[in-house]
Amino acid sequence: MNTTPAESAALDAVDEGAIAENLLELLAIPSVTGSAAESEAQHWLAERLRRLGLDVDLWSMDLPALQADPDFPGSEAPRDEAWGLVGVTGDDGPTLILQGHVDVVPPGDLGRWQGDPFTPRTVGRTVHGRGACDMKAGVVANLAALAAIKASGVQLRGRVAAHFVVSEEDGGLGAFGTLRRGHTGDACVITEPTSGKLVTANAGALTFRIEVPGQATHASTREAGVSAIDAYLPIHRALARLETVRNQTPDPLLAGYRVPYALSVGKLSAGDWASSVPDLLRAEGRIGVCVDEDPAAAREQLERCVAETCAADPWLRDHPATVAWTGGQFASGRLPVGDPLRGLVGDAYADATGREAPVESGAPYGSDLRLYAAAGVPTLQFGPGDVRLAHGPREQVPLDEVVDVARTLVLTVLRAVGPK
Ligand SMILES: [Zn+2]
Repeated sequence: MNTTPAESAALDAVDEGAIAENLLELLAIPSVTGSAAESEAQHWLAERLRRLGLDVDLWSMDLPALQADPDFPGSEAPRDEAWGLVGVTGDDGPTLILQGHVDVVPPGDLGRWQGDPFTPRTVGRTVHGRGACDMKAGVVANLAALAAIKASGVQLRGRVAAHFVVSEEDGGLGAFGTLRRGHTGDACVITEPTSGKLVTANAGALTFRIEVPGQATHASTREAGVSAIDAYLPIHRALARLETVRNQTPDPLLAGYRVPYALSVGKLSAGDWASSVPDLLRAEGRIGVCVDEDPAAAREQLERCVAETCAADPWLRDHPATVAWTGGQFASGRLPVGDPLRGLVGDAYADATGREAPVESGAPYGSDLRLYAAAGVPTLQFGPGDVRLAHGPREQVPLDEVVDVARTLVLTVLRAVGPK
């Protein structure tokens, strides 16, 4: 293993028992995005950061001011409050950010879970529960790295900042508010689940709502009206064609995905009575934003697709569908080409685990990465767990991956901002 004595000492200080314990405790806080438990998780973590001797900034965000900001990233869950949490070591020098979100998506159909989603279970060396991989394991890995460096007594020449945020799942207001408060850094590692890969680019995702008018009448005389459901069908087919066009030449980092920029309608509603012809259909969905594409261009393409479909349709020509942009608005983002952070984290993983350096990849979803990238902070994702298990009832994370990531972060920190 290619490490200095100071690095070895810090690696030896990674506490596997504390990792398991912290993960189970954090998973037991049901911090569904927008819930009061989101705040509880932030306060729980603030206490952990204080115990590690960090300077802690725990604040209640000014939601109306953030929402009024022209760059506000959008949100879906209603919220009375949102807490920001940053813990920093030291006063000056270059700053490496370790970032993680504490919110999780709702558990969905409880019947599909083996047990309560917020009563975490350990099976062998794997921890199960909502948020296990997305991304409380990553949050705990960040804590474990900070704890190991402190325990080893290594003095840093720069600073490490832990940024723990709410609302990643519904748009990123937590990361947005943290950056707006002036917390920044020279590089950032987000420990989202990446299955051992270095994720250096994210596609974006924009949430839309299409409203299609019809003309109501009694179902027995349906030919006297126009069904909004029938009127919607050509739009649905046109959206599928648009998805094909937008996925013809994806960024090479996303070329491994069959549909890197998915355009998907996730919610349809129409009508209010079985024997009435529906006069309104609502289709809600998301369109993927290509890496390096301006979200405005993606919006414009979808709006044009809907408008052209309407123009070619005898009913919609005079009663066009409308498009609104609602909920989370995730731009795409990437680590700049040639940035040293990828080599730093890749070598740290190889030296911490004795394995090969991880491969670089893109991810087809939007995340807080794009907000840090937009703020000029070179950012990548590297964290424990498999994102394909995120948001589902089999969500889990292998503890050994959490330990590997914690060890990787220890070396990343020491090589980026220390030792003195
Ligand atoms: Zn996540």
